[in-house]
Amino acid sequence: MPLHNHKVIIDDLFTTEAMAKPLNVHRISRKERNAEAVYQMIHDELLLDGNSRQNMATFCSTWLEREVHELMEECIDKNMIDKDEYPQTAEIESRCVSMLSTLWNAKECTNHAATDCPPAIGCSTTGSSEAAMLGGMALKWNWKARRIAAGKPYDKPNLVCGPVQVCWHKFARYWEIELRELPMEKGKYMSSPKDVIAHCDENTIGVVQTLGTTFTGHYEPVADVHAALDKLQQETGLDIPMHVDAASGGFVAPFMHPEIKWDFRLPRVKSINASGHKYGLAPLGCGWVIWATEKDLPEDLIFRVNYLGGQMPTFALNFSRPGGEVVAQYYNFLRLGYEGYIKVQEAAFAAARYFAAGLEQFNLFEFINNSSKGLPLICWKLKDDATPPFSLYQLSDGLRERGWLIPTYTLPPNCEEIVVQRIVVRHGTSVDMLSLLLKDFKEVIAELTENPPLNPDKKRTSFNHS
Ligand SMILES: *Cc1c(COP(=O)(O)O)cnc(C)c1O
Repeated sequence: MPLHNHKVIIDDLFTTEAMAKPLNVHRISRKERNAEAVYQMIHDELLLDGNSRQNMATFCSTWLEREVHELMEECIDKNMIDKDEYPQTAEIESRCVSMLSTLWNAKECTNHAATDCPPAIGCSTTGSSEAAMLGGMALKWNWKARRIAAGKPYDKPNLVCGPVQVCWHKFARYWEIELRELPMEKGKYMSSPKDVIAHCDENTIGVVQTLGTTFTGHYEPVADVHAALDKLQQETGLDIPMHVDAASGGFVAPFMHPEIKWDFRLPRVKSINASGHKYGLAPLGCGWVIWATEKDLPEDLIFRVNYLGGQMPTFALNFSRPGGEVVAQYYNFLRLGYEGYIKVQEAAFAAARYFAAGLEQFNLFEFINNSSKGLPLICWKLKDDATPPFSLYQLSDGLRERGWLIPTYTLPPNCEEIVVQRIVVRHGTSVDMLSLLLKDFKEVIAELTENPPLNPDKKRTSFNHS
């Protein structure tokens, strides 16, 4: 019998039949395959993806504690919607909602020492995008109810905001709302309160402000816009509510900038969304939306599901959804507390400052944010008088060859002629890693200077902020 008869010999994994030819990947095969071999092939194929720890573009968690991995594994079979079958997971979600309402200073929860905080209203979502949809829908329903009560038409809703993440464009299109997205002011990289007010009218369902914009990481001036809306009400009677997109800032500002008023301390702020899977430190697939009070979430939007013989209100776009992300979020709240979150975010700011100081040495870049104006991210452009023989796009390409993803993109109107680069510093971005990144910056800049690219102004399709 020949030695290579696969049927009798216990093969090495890479000599099994399944490994002998490329997989047919566009049709489900007739036959089954060996689990170990298929696992190995998929595992190996995934090596072709970028390395998430070198992805300096993302705000999302790319490093998680061992305990989080374990809880995720333990929760693989838990369905968030099945509150009757998994009441404890449902209970954990509602504890997280209470914790977040306290963190964001909801009125009913201002007694931080209270252990029996009244039930706040809110829910987990798959991320800030779904949370923003829910917050936006509540604004639309409430506005419509006010219009009906006043006997006025409700067919031309609009939403006023500064430069927003793409989820708000989706919200506006899916729910047929006119999006009045205001341009970035030069040098400020945000919308101005004056501009916001100028675009509000009786059809404005609400004003959205972003705590930590995706473009530059700046906090928008929520309190100033709030004051301007107060003035507008005094002058015109228009009472316009606010929603804060705190996707990133919701887990940074309370720990690092508690003096900044952006949350439910401001009475016009009716709802807040945040991404648990960004600075909330939960694994991917976790977002939150919280309303200031129960009356800010229209009853009409709530579906009641049977929960242990009682009625559990749900408000979500999904039905089945894994429970692990919420459980892991709860783990982080219990494990870190204020002390731990402050330490984690302080470490991110310290690492960001370290990187900014290193970048300054090249004498090529001007900071748009050096982490002093919002999130711990560094955003820069070429200095006006710098004339390197390469573009920022080409610098990104050179760094990509070394595995780093450093996005280069143009800012939104009216700053679209400004080309910037950005790194997002987060849990797991160590100073040591950033020192390696700076070393690669130095080497790539030297290479590009020595062998300049033929077409230094090559433009690219812009980085996608989704
Ligand atoms: C990331 C982000 C979103 C979208 O959040 P997901 O959690 O990715 O769905 C929305 N708004 C802002 C400001 C963001 O940074």
